[in-house]
Amino acid sequence: RIIPSFTSQTFASTFNSRSISTLVLAEHEGSSLKIQSVSAVKAAKSLSKDNSISLLLAGSGPGLHEAAAQAASCDPSVSQVLVADSDEFSHPLAEPWAKLVRLVQQKGGYSHVITTSGSFGKNIMPRAAALLDVSPITDVTGISEPHLFVRPIYAGNALCTVRYTGVGPCLLTIRATSFPVSPITSDSKSNEASISQVDLSTFGEDSVGKSRYVKHTSQDIERPDLGNARVVITGGRALKSAENFKMIEKLAEKLGAAVGATRAAVDAGYVPNDLQVGQTGKIVAPELYMAFGVSGAIQHLAGMRDSKYIVAVNKDADAPIFQVADYGLVGDIFDVIPELLEKLPEK
Ligand code: FAD
Repeated sequence: RIIPSFTSQTFASTFNSRSISTLVLAEHEGSSLKIQSVSAVKAAKSLSKDNSISLLLAGSGPGLHEAAAQAASCDPSVSQVLVADSDEFSHPLAEPWAKLVRLVQQKGGYSHVITTSGSFGKNIMPRAAALLDVSPITDVTGISEPHLFVRPIYAGNALCTVRYTGVGPCLLTIRATSFPVSPITSDSKSNEASISQVDLSTFGEDSVGKSRYVKHTSQDIERPDLGNARVVITGGRALKSAENFKMIEKLAEKLGAAVGATRAAVDAGYVPNDLQVGQTGKIVAPELYMAFGVSGAIQHLAGMRDSKYIVAVNKDADAPIFQVADYGLVGDIFDVIPELLEKLPEK
């Protein structure tokens, strides 16, 4: 429900008096907890000072337990790590995971369940919400009160304040870029939360639904992940071909940056669609975002306007990208990029 203004004392006092306990549905890759999950913990912390936070990790094999050990010390506010170890969770298929969220939420009576707005969370959370018969609140960028959230609408052109008025648990997906955290280091052992196994004896055998895991493919490149990179170099339609787009890749290599692209560049086949930044692509907020030959359509801006510094190069001085750029250069990318490549030292 969208409400016009921020506070209503009655609502606030009612909700604040209820105890808050949060289940964070975490993601791991091999034996490492994903940094986005630490952002979800940060979001959980902003719900209430005395929030009791549990982290749920699912998967199978020894990597899961190493990730759980890392999760136990990722933030002093995490009181317990719940591990669901089963072949059912070897791959992030939405049906068994959504069922797991329901099982754990119902056993623990959590008031909130949080995960990040990536493909993992977007896949699982709506199904978990359906199983729990509640409406999820997605893409949260700010938390004002335990049941009052801010989320972007109209491709990020407006912010909407939403109050959760449901009677069941409040399920949220948060934008990790709005809850930035420092990288997880091996010495971040400020606290050791307890680690326990989720009892899956009541889980049932019919949990695998209509989807089936086929395969996982990923590009074998050493570049940083687009979603978390400190520097992103993006190319637009102006690159004209996949061959020319390699200039963007070379520049990214020199700067240790991730490569991004506009939808026009993706649709033209210059790069695969996992590099798309924007409303229907990835949402990024790096320290430096460099856009080459990008017009700055609102759907593109929706995915990068929160970047700390935006640099744009475009030959059209009236291109909308210059309205959000901190540094703009009116010029031809086919002159500017080769010059940059020449002047930047090798990494
Ligand atoms: P263009 O708009 O064609 O801009 C190319 C720019 O390059 C121009 O400004 C031009 O002046 C400049 N240029 C040309 N040649 C040179 C040169 N030699 N040197 C310097 N500058 C040059 N787009 C996204 O990016 N991400 C999304 O997620 C996304 N989602 C969408 C969702 C919907 C529902 C819709 C309708 C659209 C979406 N779009 C998205 C598409 C978006 O509207 C734009 O069409 C797209 O972003 C344009 O990409 P572009 O800037 O590369 O191309």
